[in-house]
Amino acid sequence: MKKILFGLMLCVGLLTQAQRNWDAVEITSERLADNLYVLYGSGGNMGLAIGDQFAYLIDDQFAPLSDKILGAIRALTDKPLRYVVNTHWHGDHAGGNAPMAQQGATLIAHENVRKRMGSVQWAGTDRETQPAPFEALSRITFNEEMTVYLDAGHSMHIMHVNPSHTDGDSYVYFPEANVIHMGDNFISGYPFIDIASGGDIDGLVQNMNMALFIVDDQTKIIRGHGGVAGRAELQAFRDMIDTIRMRVKQAKDAGKTLEEVQQMGLTSEWDAQYDKGFINAQRLLEAVYSSVD
Ligand SMILES: [Zn+2]
Repeated sequence: MKKILFGLMLCVGLLTQAQRNWDAVEITSERLADNLYVLYGSGGNMGLAIGDQFAYLIDDQFAPLSDKILGAIRALTDKPLRYVVNTHWHGDHAGGNAPMAQQGATLIAHENVRKRMGSVQWAGTDRETQPAPFEALSRITFNEEMTVYLDAGHSMHIMHVNPSHTDGDSYVYFPEANVIHMGDNFISGYPFIDIASGGDIDGLVQNMNMALFIVDDQTKIIRGHGGVAGRAELQAFRDMIDTIRMRVKQAKDAGKTLEEVQQMGLTSEWDAQYDKGFINAQRLLEAVYSSVD
């Protein structure tokens, strides 16, 4: 029975992938600074930075969209695409790696992104992902942080943050342009804490505090999913996840089971705003319960 169920789930996963209508997806862009754009399509939001010689892309969505993404980049700049940075390993952010590399871009990511993409993974424990081919794996990796100088006046800081969404998450910060891409640490719905990929609620709260330290009232924040946000939305998101974290910890410490915690209404004041996407309140509570300490 378990085997049949698993097979069924796998088929459902493949079907949803196959049924996606890539032809209908349009890549749109929004200018955030002189040399910086956010690109929207289907999957994780992308950042595009333009230097004096090259263009640089943050995340690349899915392989079937690569031609459209490259077309959208060409509409904004004639500079060749030099590097593609992955904020983490998930397929809706790094799925276009191989075609981008074939077009001449060099892939950069945290060491754990490369490790996870190169081996069988279970995102959220119910979706099996096979190892990606060598072409899709980072050619340059880092452990803590690295800086790319775009031109005489602009830089891009890639910073590994605490295990939170996954254990390979990075922020990509453009200090002169005052823009930051936070990957899936910050999305418009409840956060996905991917326990199977080393995700952790305590790390997520610490990362939010770090982000609040970096950004000011003028910073434009590219979220992994959802529109561009500012400091006030980041603060609200941080307060929401930290309050839920504390409530779950208190209940868990008092001996409540996960099922009991899920019946306590611990997220009720935020459900209308955040319980709308991939992660519902029950899944969030499950991930917080299993990783809080
Ligand atoms: Zn993700």
